Amino acid sequence: MRKMKVNEIFYSLQGEGFWTGTPMVFVRFSGCNLDCAFCDTDHSSFTDMSLDEIVEKVASCGGECRRICATGGEPSLQIGSDFINAFHMKGYKIHIETNGTMTLPDGIDWITVSPKTKKIALKKADEIKLVYLGQEDISSWNDFPARFRFLQPCSCKNTKETIDWILENPQWRLSLQTQKYLDIR
Ligand code: SF4
Repeated sequence: MRKMKVNEIFYSLQGEGFWTGTPMVFVRFSGCNLDCAFCDTDHSSFTDMSLDEIVEKVASCGGECRRICATGGEPSLQIGSDFINAFHMKGYKIHIETNGTMTLPDGIDWITVSPKTKKIALKKADEIKLVYLGQEDISSWNDFPARFRFLQPCSCKNTKETIDWILENPQWRLSLQTQKYLDIR
């Protein structure tokens, strides 16, 4: 049976973007096709898990929660329609946080794209969330088809700069890594 590289599975609140404050079971995968300097995932750390093992672990740690967030790393390198179907069959809503460079299986309930390069494969998303480093041209993403646009300070450091940029570009909203402020996972 196919195995996926799982970095960790844990139950917490979504800390960023539109769903901030919402309970979700996070399935964090290891491995990415990009290599960002500020990446906070340890891609060398993972457990090979079957889909059944992932479903069982999600159920055991999430209790009544029926919302999962596939994140990474780059989750689209690991998941396929079997993953989507298995969780939908159990009544879960599925969110994904992707860098947008790969196509996604159909049926994902909420797509968050966080582009780290201009070349992305995704044609639309529910939300686009960019980490603001301070120099890049955020406005080049103004026309990307997304219902919500979030700009996020880099590791909670340049919050004022990020707020100033949003005030001048009001089609964007502020996203904070609230999990870091609250010291939760
Ligand atoms: S795209 Fe995301 S997961 Fe991949 S290296 Fe960059 S920050 Fe890390």
